Amino acid sequence: MVTWRLKDCPRCGGDTYIDKDLDGWYQQCLLCAYRLELKELNCRKKPLAVTISDEDED
Ligand SMILES: [Zn+2]
Repeated sequence: MVTWRLKDCPRCGGDTYIDKDLDGWYQQCLLCAYRLELKELNCRKKPLAVTISDEDED
């Protein structure tokens, strides 16, 4: 299943689609083959390493 994002390429404004491979999710343009890694989607699988200060928790 591929998600399309029409006219969303930052380089040429062409049609792009969203797919995933071993590295995770990415968005790629059909016209110029520009590829953008979608790190925000990849982060959903594993928790973020957030630095929490115990002193501010209260
Ligand atoms: Zn493009």
